Amino acid sequence: MRITAVIATPIRVPRLTSMVATQGRIDASEFGVVRVETDAGITGWGESRWSADRVARRAVYAAYMNSKAWQDKRRAWYARWVTLTGSPPVCLVCGRRWSMRSGHLHHLTYQRLGAEEPEDLMPLCGRDHNRLHDVLDSSPSWRHLGREAATIGIISMLRRSERAARDRQDLAS
Ligand SMILES: [Zn+2]
Repeated sequence: MRITAVIATPIRVPRLTSMVATQGRIDASEFGVVRVETDAGITGWGESRWSADRVARRAVYAAYMNSKAWQDKRRAWYARWVTLTGSPPVCLVCGRRWSMRSGHLHHLTYQRLGAEEPEDLMPLCGRDHNRLHDVLDSSPSWRHLGREAATIGIISMLRRSERAARDRQDLAS
């Protein structure tokens, strides 16, 4: 999938009272509204105070997640996993069985969005995918490493805490 057009409209809304923040006086709020079109016929909208670039990426991603192309990708990914390993996928953090219905696939990289290699996608349960994003999206030190390294680092960290929790449970029972 390729982006064929990004139509961005910056909107500046003057504030009635100016606000003093760490970056100085703020007299207006700025928003970006972005329409993104792709050659796969997928169109996305974004609105936020983020950079136009980030809005565009998010809009493309959201549109792709709702597409038939992504459903087909998930099915192909699942079939390949079962063929290669002889068993159904499991969540990389907790080891629970991953299903087409409820399983999440985390993008290790967005470099090939729409034309992912199977290795770009990591099976996670919904709970652990949320936990991964809680850390990834809120921690500048992890983000600083880049998405791939941060994802792998956070998944190892979550696996360790998952194991520790299980050990505590074993001791208690
Ligand atoms: Zn899990």
